[in-house]
Amino acid sequence: MSYQNSRIAETAKILTERLSGLENKAEILRSIELKALFDELKYLPADKKAEFGQEMNELRQELIAAVKADQDKDDALPPIDVTAPFDSNVSQDQHPQLLSSEVGSKHPLMTEIETVLDIFYRMGFTAVESREIDDDFHMFGALNFPEDHPARDDYDTFMTTQTDKNGKQFIAPAHTSTMQYRVLQKYKKNLEECRPIAAVIPGRVFRNEDLDARHEHTFYQLEGIYVAKGVHAGNLIATLKTWLNSYFGKEIKIMTQPFYFPFTEPSFEFAASCAFCDQKGCNICSQTGWIELGGCGMIHPNVLREAGIDPETYTGFAWGFGIERLVMLKYNIEDIRHFESGKLDFLRQFS
Ligand SMILES: [Zn+2]
Repeated sequence: MSYQNSRIAETAKILTERLSGLENKAEILRSIELKALFDELKYLPADKKAEFGQEMNELRQELIAAVKADQDKDDALPPIDVTAPFDSNVSQDQHPQLLSSEVGSKHPLMTEIETVLDIFYRMGFTAVESREIDDDFHMFGALNFPEDHPARDDYDTFMTTQTDKNGKQFIAPAHTSTMQYRVLQKYKKNLEECRPIAAVIPGRVFRNEDLDARHEHTFYQLEGIYVAKGVHAGNLIATLKTWLNSYFGKEIKIMTQPFYFPFTEPSFEFAASCAFCDQKGCNICSQTGWIELGGCGMIHPNVLREAGIDPETYTGFAWGFGIERLVMLKYNIEDIRHFESGKLDFLRQFS
């Protein structure tokens, strides 16, 4: 198109030339040259304004039409066949490029639980899933906690306002021992077939704690249960020792000291010899040579009886340890709160 006004003709020539080189053709409509023409219009004498304005508008329409024609051309292209193989003979820089992305990773606790479970599978245990809401019976009643017994106060956790059929509030389990009754019930037929009950139960538990580097309101435990004929505390110690030797890949000693749990008799706290300093004393074991891991004991006859197992014929043991504590020791993590924090800086160290 030819323009009478020399300023417009000159601008049209510049913009038409530039248009062919532009990747995004629509940019031409925002060019400073076009804007300059609009600015000039404001300062023209009234008798020149009409003609200048009309030609300027024609130029703008011409550019809009060119942009639209280019878009139509793109729309008319056939769709890309994404299933077509690319030519592998072309140079590497011509291969299709994948978009970069941040890949997620498994949480370190899940990785560690799998490692621990794998050891117990090889020792003949099966795994049972825990639950994150339970009732008073499984939390206390089935575990030989009498009503209003002060031992219940050691398990200060969270409760729902909703109640079960007995009028008791539902409970966020404070330990994985809530699963003991269910496991004993489910596998007691093993005993009739002369096979042991051997189960481990990983699960998330909850406590009403004052939070600090060592205490979290939410953490993981691994419960273990073993029942058969003639089982004694020596079997318990041997089982824990076999697991720890395998986990740390070296000979670990076990130390127990008497403790009290209503659901085991006798009850112990157990500690393992420090795998990091071989008991010479280091900052991980607080220079003591021992690392406390959890509680254990022989299952109380009342707990077996409650589940319909005759304690005169069968005996068994159970234990529970905190999984975070184990992972903190393994990787020298200084604060338990990192695990539930969702901090990517922390999590990416394990990916
Ligand atoms: Zn140590």
